[in-house]
Amino acid sequence: MPIHLQPEELARLAHADELRLRLPIPSRPVSSDEFMPAPQSRQQRSFEARTLAYGREFARHQGLTRRRFFQTAAGMAAAFLAMNDTWGPLFAVSRAEAATPERAAERAAGLSGQFIMDMHTHFLHDQTRLAGFIRSREAVGRAGWNPALAGKPQSLEDLKYANYFKEVFLDSDTKVALISGSASHDPVDWFLSNDQKRDARARINATAGGTRRAFSHLIFTPGVPGALERFERELVELAPDSIKGYTIGDNTNKPMARWPWRMDDEKLAYPYYERALKAGIRNVCVHKGLFPPHTEQQFPHLLPYCRVDDVARAARDWPQLNFIIYHSGYRYAAGGRTEDAWAQAQASGRVDWVSDLAEIPARHGVSNVYGDLGQIFAQSTMADPHLAAFMMGTLIRGLGVERVVWGTDAIWTGSPQWQIEALRRLEIPEDMQRRHGFQPLGAADGPVKNAIFGGNNARLYGYTEAQRQALAGDLLSVARRAYQKAGTSRSNLAYGFVARESAG
Ligand SMILES: [Zn+2]
Repeated sequence: MPIHLQPEELARLAHADELRLRLPIPSRPVSSDEFMPAPQSRQQRSFEARTLAYGREFARHQGLTRRRFFQTAAGMAAAFLAMNDTWGPLFAVSRAEAATPERAAERAAGLSGQFIMDMHTHFLHDQTRLAGFIRSREAVGRAGWNPALAGKPQSLEDLKYANYFKEVFLDSDTKVALISGSASHDPVDWFLSNDQKRDARARINATAGGTRRAFSHLIFTPGVPGALERFERELVELAPDSIKGYTIGDNTNKPMARWPWRMDDEKLAYPYYERALKAGIRNVCVHKGLFPPHTEQQFPHLLPYCRVDDVARAARDWPQLNFIIYHSGYRYAAGGRTEDAWAQAQASGRVDWVSDLAEIPARHGVSNVYGDLGQIFAQSTMADPHLAAFMMGTLIRGLGVERVVWGTDAIWTGSPQWQIEALRRLEIPEDMQRRHGFQPLGAADGPVKNAIFGGNNARLYGYTEAQRQALAGDLLSVARRAYQKAGTSRSNLAYGFVARESAG
């Protein structure tokens, strides 16, 4: 079973895991920064205390340590019980599930085959210096959402390939993932070079034994001198599955953003669409949103590029292309305050710039605009699930359920499994449905959630039923089953298993 984790990578991971996992204690507020959740709120503290109380109670009953309990399916259920205690019954979960490990395990096993195609994932190359993402993972741990990250110091190693592979393909029910990236004026600050994304795709697909598990992006940078010629070359050499651009120009180093662009700029952007289309690419992904008011204050000139008012015309001019708007244009992530978004939703029934995106089909008569759920779902669910429910309702009502697509921005917030579980369990409260004309989200594996988790992306990327069927028997599935049998925990035992297989 050739799992391509290098021994030294595994050694580093195992070392990190040996560090004692402390309890996810309420902590001082987290300072705001790139991709950082906002400071912990009163409700989050209460959620954390409830989670810990359930942990104490159920772990003792089940003869486990609390740490171990939180790594089980019953432990995950307990966290959602605590969510409902804090916010009201937005998540489908029962006390029996948290109290009865067999019941929780049965539910988890029943859903583990669900087709989940996460077309927005990241890791960082080996020489990266982007340490900000470490703080993002630590903050998610402190907030109590991802017990695997709680109290465990995160390092740059946690953001690299080995841990990416583990958290996405072994620790979560994700079946297929797209390796994305981000450009910057300094090549060392690209998350991954375009070559590295292509190489990682090949590596994962080879690991799986030839099934199609990984897709990869080619990043395009309109306006940068020489970029178009390079793009033309890379379209051929790297055979990307789709392309991705940042209208903000340089999101990682905003002070250096010299080349912002608009999606409907005929001179800057359209040549890229034309070349992509000619190369057989149908999907153009664009990063939007993640530009809260405090960021606007620092970079007011970049604000127009972060909104979505350039989407409609590009979509109308290029009906053969699909425009997939990453983060669905959600403004208030990346250090923004969820309370601001929720206050806006309550006062006006709208959220910047999610509602603007959702209104495009009705206003402009286009049907090739999509909303990706990266960060928008994680950050809102974590901070106030009412907002998560409201934005899901808004996107589905406006774009249509067939144009809301799964992306998690993993592994910035750890393994995507908690996000998967959150969407499986989330329902829009009935009074909210009535007030805004939202459709219910329905069962964990009902038509709405199945479409969002995988069906829509499968259609966008031409992923066939035969390709889907092949996954259950590939090397990665075999490895995951063995990994799970070795213990559901993220333990040294599990790593050891993978390492032994790798060596053999
Ligand atoms: Zn991203």
